[in-house]
Amino acid sequence: MTFDTALLLICYLIGSLAFIVGLKMLSSPKTALNGNRFAAIGMLVAIIGTFLFYRNSKGEPLGNFILIFIAIVIGIIIGTLTAKKVKMTEMPQLVSLFNGAGGLCAALIAVVEFKSLISGGIIYQASTGYLLILIAGLLIGSISFSGSVIAFAKLNGNIKKTGSFKGQQFINFSVLITVIVLSVLLVLSTANASIYFYAILVLALLYGVLFVVPIGGADMPVVISLLNSFTGIATAFAGFLYSNQAMMTGGILVGSAGTILTLIMCRAMNRSLGKVLLGSFGGTKKVDGAKDEGSYKEISVSDTAMVMNYAHKVIIVPGYGLAVAQAQHACHDLDKLLTEKGIEVSYAIHPVAGRMPGHMNVLLAEANVPYEKLKELEQSNTEFPHTDVVLVLGANDVVNPAAENDASSPVYGMQILEVDKAKQVIVNKRTMNPGYAGISNALFYEPNTSMLFGDAKNVLEQLIAEIKTM
Ligand code: NDP
Repeated sequence: MTFDTALLLICYLIGSLAFIVGLKMLSSPKTALNGNRFAAIGMLVAIIGTFLFYRNSKGEPLGNFILIFIAIVIGIIIGTLTAKKVKMTEMPQLVSLFNGAGGLCAALIAVVEFKSLISGGIIYQASTGYLLILIAGLLIGSISFSGSVIAFAKLNGNIKKTGSFKGQQFINFSVLITVIVLSVLLVLSTANASIYFYAILVLALLYGVLFVVPIGGADMPVVISLLNSFTGIATAFAGFLYSNQAMMTGGILVGSAGTILTLIMCRAMNRSLGKVLLGSFGGTKKVDGAKDEGSYKEISVSDTAMVMNYAHKVIIVPGYGLAVAQAQHACHDLDKLLTEKGIEVSYAIHPVAGRMPGHMNVLLAEANVPYEKLKELEQSNTEFPHTDVVLVLGANDVVNPAAENDASSPVYGMQILEVDKAKQVIVNKRTMNPGYAGISNALFYEPNTSMLFGDAKNVLEQLIAEIKTM
């Protein structure tokens, strides 16, 4: 091993360790920001190490410095501007785009490496193992790219109509089988390699679209975390192609963290991973708004203030509407006011509340809500029966009883926050419109539920002012 190679490996080791420590630090809101910085420094060390110490098999240093430098500068400008400008409510779309970009990179690496292996459509100098890794990176990266683009369009509201068409599962299955057959052919034969390779690329892109388009109802979180894990796995394969240890570690960490998150999401939604992979779940049967549900009770801000002021125990259920209204700070102010009055306040966090995994945790951490006050689904469900008031702030699907008692509902099977077990439920939202799954919610018509209409931030500010006068 040359001295340069040893130095490069040390840089990759530092980078890999920084990724691992950074990821560990991400597990608590208190250390998350520094964890992110730590991992970024690790990445910088790996990049600088590659610039300075990389040598190819002929001992030549890295070429194309100017092109790489221009690409890095463009990436930094776009990344910084986007991160600064993006609204909190648009974070899920941004995460999807980043995911897609990672998948695209992994797929492009496979294309570039493949081109270096062939001449006149014939593969030279490639072992079976190398080809398998190359195909895996291409396949998973491409699915992750096209799937993430569709996920972005869905979250952004560009694709509204979803739902599977007749024979969807059969087509998805056929595309997957065809890709496997083409991959075997590519590994076994040397001739026609380019045809097989590019056919795999096109079919993988198609599969990504076919796989995500029908997902509707409330099942998008599972797909988003699955695509995230795909991007990590594809990057790890690309790291194998280059024998780049830092890239492998980064990819493996993202891939395994994404897989764990997918399993958690599957459990929360009560879906099987196999069905997710075949795109055979998440129907989009929409039910009209308030159809046949009876009548609902409205409550004023001053009555809500009264009810909360005399409560002993209050649980706040945040949802996507809280993020839309940017009401996290007002929400924490209400919490502090009630706590000062001796009222026990906590937050019930549903794993799929909002529009991205961990959305509510991020939102409330931004407002400095103590992490200990956030209760997970199971624990919250044991506490609702002993709770005086549940204040639902911009949440809808995650408290929809249809998930438990209507087998025809697209959210059926998903675990919900059983807020109706509390003595009184106050639901804040602007209208009777449905949430993401597009279905009505029987909770709003329960005898112990009252609707508090208005934008979450306005309502909370009025509520705080009212309680202060008591
Ligand atoms: P929902 O989307 O079910 O409901 C949000 C509610 O917020 C709406 O009913 C809306 O009603 C209300 N709202 C919107 N703006 C405001 C506002 N300014 N003030 C007050 N209320 C407002 O949200 P949930 O968090 O309950 O559920 C999340 C859904 O998103 C689930 O179906 C989940 O599967 C899905 N999803 C989750 C992802 C994740 O990773 N977490 C990713 C993708 C999808 P109104 O318009 O009447 O105000």
